[in-house]
Amino acid sequence: MAEIIDGKAVAAEVVEKVTAEAAELIAAGTTPGLAVVIVGEDPASQVYVASKSKKAKECGFHSVQHTLPADTPPQDLVALVEALNNDPSIHGILVQLPLPDHVDAGRIIQTIAPEKDVDGFHFINVGKLGTGELATAFVPCTPAGSMLLLERLRGKDLSGLSAVVVGRSNIVGKPMANLLLAANATVTIAHSRTKDLPALARTADILVAAVGRPGMVKGDWVKPGATVIDVGINRIPAPERGEGKTRLVGDVAFEEAEKVAGAITPVPGGVGPMTIAMLMANTLVSACRAAGHKPPV
Ligand code: NDP
Repeated sequence: MAEIIDGKAVAAEVVEKVTAEAAELIAAGTTPGLAVVIVGEDPASQVYVASKSKKAKECGFHSVQHTLPADTPPQDLVALVEALNNDPSIHGILVQLPLPDHVDAGRIIQTIAPEKDVDGFHFINVGKLGTGELATAFVPCTPAGSMLLLERLRGKDLSGLSAVVVGRSNIVGKPMANLLLAANATVTIAHSRTKDLPALARTADILVAAVGRPGMVKGDWVKPGATVIDVGINRIPAPERGEGKTRLVGDVAFEEAEKVAGAITPVPGGVGPMTIAMLMANTLVSACRAAGHKPPV
């Protein structure tokens, strides 16, 4: 049976370290500041935003949440982001996605100052990640957290290991592939047009699933002993828990895969908690850079 990778525990360690280092920075006169912006009333987004703001407060940060109505004109959102760019008490700006259809999300993201783009979605940060300028980049939180879990198991250097990333989104699949490449893995990115995905997946020493399809990756897609990182978060009906109840599952058929894998992340409790922890770490790094302190490694 596979080792179950405890993302909750690793995330708690990261948050503890961030809190300790933030306290030092605060004592030296700079309080890390995180601004979270949400537009509209998407219930899942509201839960994510509330937990990000709460965690920022737990870390001792200055935490601000801007909640805007769904029909906010795009220019008002641009003006808010620009005001946050110019606010010296704010070191990290996060605009919760998805945005309502009438707002061009790309334009809003590119309005965020790259040095405050703690989500790592601005072209400057994407470019830095793509060219290996990791020391000054902001790396998107979910892939960064996934890498930290991998690092705990397999070390920083993945030389000689093959990695298959299923999913090519800008927020998970592509940055994850770049990070694996930077760690010397031999990387293949798969997607909806890939032929014979099960056979490709079986070649992977490290298999990352970031698809958004519950249980798509079956046990017989997993190479014996592989490390499986399940990024997927899917809410499915759970009638066994009562009428109308739901539960969260990943993109990997966990019960099957854990019999074959060497290690695997559960859902919930795997990659999910790492995402918020890495957001806190990125905000601390941003505040350190702004204050001229050496950012923690
Ligand atoms: P996207 O929908 O943006 O991307 C999904 C990717 O999966 C696409 O590249 C798509 O391919 C590929 N795909 C879809 N169907 C198949 C298929 N049948 N076979 C192979 N590839 C397929 O999703 P995200 O990257 O944003 O998110 C992926 C998952 O991760 C979701 O479950 C999401 O909820 C979760 N997530 C979790 C986070 C966390 O904190 N743990 C944070 C962010 C996301 P193509 O490009 O060809 O369409």
